Amino acid sequence: MTSPSTATNPPLVCWSCHERTFGTHFCSSCGKLLQLPQALDYFALFEMPRKLCIEMSELEQKFLQLSWKLHPDNFVNATEQERELSLKHSSELNDAYRALRDPVGRVEYLLGIEGARKEGEHKQQAPPELLEEVFELNESLDELREAKASGGDLAVLKTRLESAEKNFQDKLGQVDAQLRVTAREWDATLQGDPATRKKIMAQLNELLNRRSYIRNLVTNVQKELL
Ligand SMILES: [Zn+2]
Repeated sequence: MTSPSTATNPPLVCWSCHERTFGTHFCSSCGKLLQLPQALDYFALFEMPRKLCIEMSELEQKFLQLSWKLHPDNFVNATEQERELSLKHSSELNDAYRALRDPVGRVEYLLGIEGARKEGEHKQQAPPELLEEVFELNESLDELREAKASGGDLAVLKTRLESAEKNFQDKLGQVDAQLRVTAREWDATLQGDPATRKKIMAQLNELLNRRSYIRNLVTNVQKELL
């Protein structure tokens, strides 16, 4: 009683036929909707390995197929328990799709379930290699605020901030490129030794923190430039 596509999920006992089943959403013996196990993560829900490089079309297709199979409309004449299960499966599926379709959200989610997501202790502290640029940026922001308050000339300051914004947007692009490279490394070592996997997760975590720091900077500049 094995099914290669669902081999990642441990078997559970079906509430309806009481057989051990390897299904994720439906019992492999009687075909009834299963109770959702607490430990079922979003990758398992899609019956996918914990890979970070996902073909979008494949994910979308799986999502559409599963949504259709799990849709409450299919259970209007079923028992109340099954109707409830259909709602639960459907809403989990929607959450899973939302989390996994975004490449950054996917990394965030993976690190979360692997227990490796650690936001920086000092979220507001600039990464050392950005200190100087961040300092300059903050100065320009202060000057702009002062000029706004005193009705001074804004044009030069705005131009300076616009170029700083572009500079940080570029850095954001670099972080995203690094994320893609590290995501591929993660996928390559999916079955590899735990130490390497841990190291890659630490790198991914670092990149996420740096990304959110720069993202905040850009948002602040954009707000002031409005
Ligand atoms: Zn069953």
